Amino acid sequence: MPRCMLRLVHAEKLVDAALELAAAGLQATEISRRLGVPKSTVQYWCRGGRRFPRASELCMPCPRCHEAPLAEPSYSYLLGTYLGDGHITTPRPTTAVLAIYCADDWPGVSAETERAMRAVMPHSNVSRAARTGCHALRSSSRHWLCLFPQHGPGMKHARSIVLQPWQQVIVDDHPGQLLRGLFQSDGCRNVNWTQKRTEAGLVRYEYPRYLFSNKSEDIRAICEAALDSLDIAHRPPRRDLVSVARRASVARLDELVGPKY
Ligand SMILES: [Zn+2]
Repeated sequence: MPRCMLRLVHAEKLVDAALELAAAGLQATEISRRLGVPKSTVQYWCRGGRRFPRASELCMPCPRCHEAPLAEPSYSYLLGTYLGDGHITTPRPTTAVLAIYCADDWPGVSAETERAMRAVMPHSNVSRAARTGCHALRSSSRHWLCLFPQHGPGMKHARSIVLQPWQQVIVDDHPGQLLRGLFQSDGCRNVNWTQKRTEAGLVRYEYPRYLFSNKSEDIRAICEAALDSLDIAHRPPRRDLVSVARRASVARLDELVGPKY
């Protein structure tokens, strides 16, 4: 169904829902809060008006403001990509724009990110803005601020990044999705090598490993906690890196993340 039709169906259901709530005795203020519709529109419907609000008048339902359902696995993944390569701007007081930067080299990752943005905020379009070697996937809704309360001025590594309890519950339920988002944005799977001394002398030995690189100590800690919750061994080979190199742990990440594509 085209998006404009979805909006229309959504608007029609809203009128019915508002009238049901009014019949149950709720005040217009409470109906407005629950449905994300201006109070004046609710009052107009209660007086018998049936004009549907324009899309710009509707405040789209939000999992935080209006108890709208949230696609939690997609949210956990998108949280990972946001912490890795995303940021939010507020061009107007009523709007926020979530932008996730994706390298042009990995069209599969970009498509997966776009699907997650649409699943988490189904009423907002996702657009693409080209940059050198990468592109930004952008979606506008003031509720991105509700879903990613880590938004703040300055770089992420220069401020505290702490998950709220409701986010932690989702991450605890879907740690693999969070890791997928983190490693696809700020991580990689590559081949490292070392030398082993054998009877025949020094032998070069190669092994696959995953690296996650982020300047924010808090974001690295979020990554490490998710790895711990899945018993995936890791270590910090450098201050801003998390490395997963043990064979069993790499195999587990191959199931959850895999190479970029
Ligand atoms: Zn909201």
